[in-house]
Amino acid sequence: MLAILHPDTARDSEAYRQTLHYLENLPGVSLRVHEIQGTRQRLTEIYLIGDTKSLEKEEIEALPAVERAIRISDDYRILGRHKDDRRHSGFSYNGVTFNQDNLNVFAGLCAVDVPEHVEIMMKALEDHGQVCTRMGAYKPRTNPYSFQGHGKGCLPWVFEKAGKHGIKVVAMEITHESHIAEIDTCLEQLGRPTGVMLQVGTRNTQNFELLKAIGRQSTYPVLLKRGFGITLNESLNAAEYLASEGNADVVFCLRGMKTEAGQPHRNMVDFAHVPAVKRLTRMPVCVDPSHSVGSREQSPEGILDVMHATAQGVIAGANMVLVDFHPKPEKALVDGPQALQLHELPAYLEDIQLCHDTWKKRRAIYQRMRQAEQE
Ligand code: PEP
Ligand code: MN
Repeated sequence: MLAILHPDTARDSEAYRQTLHYLENLPGVSLRVHEIQGTRQRLTEIYLIGDTKSLEKEEIEALPAVERAIRISDDYRILGRHKDDRRHSGFSYNGVTFNQDNLNVFAGLCAVDVPEHVEIMMKALEDHGQVCTRMGAYKPRTNPYSFQGHGKGCLPWVFEKAGKHGIKVVAMEITHESHIAEIDTCLEQLGRPTGVMLQVGTRNTQNFELLKAIGRQSTYPVLLKRGFGITLNESLNAAEYLASEGNADVVFCLRGMKTEAGQPHRNMVDFAHVPAVKRLTRMPVCVDPSHSVGSREQSPEGILDVMHATAQGVIAGANMVLVDFHPKPEKALVDGPQALQLHELPAYLEDIQLCHDTWKKRRAIYQRMRQAEQE
């Protein structure tokens, strides 16, 4: 059971004290208090864990500080979408909104290499009205002798350039909890010219200690990638680890599944799961067509498979696209063969917008149908 308190209920108010006193004395029930600071108000949610079967919703809703109660299932308590659950989805970070209705594109370098390429990339994004990018500084590589990313050494100039070009959010994978402090210290020293969304890669989806460490901070939102060899349920539980530690600002990213059956693509494209994740949870859903498809192959009409996969995800309602671009893919230190090229950016953005608009039109068709069914 989840008790949602009236917005801005003060902790030292009589209503809060009475409510907590009642809940704390319920036999076999323990409490977990979760605070969400929004732009306009602070929301307090109290999760009742344990023996809650016999509790009545009405009994909890009668408590002075409680606005409403929701009976929640065990799965994904905080991030899940439960019956009669009208809680908001999504969050805003550094002026950019992430929810299950809108769309943000994060085009950029798989791995940061030289300042010149970062500069060219960010300038192109700015010229096309983009305020988000992806930049890999810490790279998890299969081969220990492959380029591991520039790490914290590149952060100052990457963040400075982001600020210069009006980039508000940089998606950046971290592979160890110490990277959070490295990013935070650097941003602080520079006066926070940009923001960072901490990315958890597919190889770390079930690195529970890393998830807990990221979940304990709420300065940075998180982009959690689906594990490439585990079930969807297991990956959604991984996301819940972040929320259970206190950070519910999580975007869930589909990036394909590792199986021979996915060939000729690098991974089996799993973007039919976009609406499934939106139904099961309140997380905005991202698709990563680059790591799913893994090549620049194209179909006879001249559209790259990466673009087709993007279209599939966005037309099904995806809320974010994470995609590899590179000004000189032949010089890229990681994943050059799958990178889109800068001259492809305008057409690609136009295609994405077309698909997002089409998703909205599709949604309207079925909303009309549902309304007619009720009349
Ligand atoms: C990446 O986005 O650079 C990456 C390594 O992706 P994944 O974790 O999905 O393989
Ligand atoms: Mn990559």
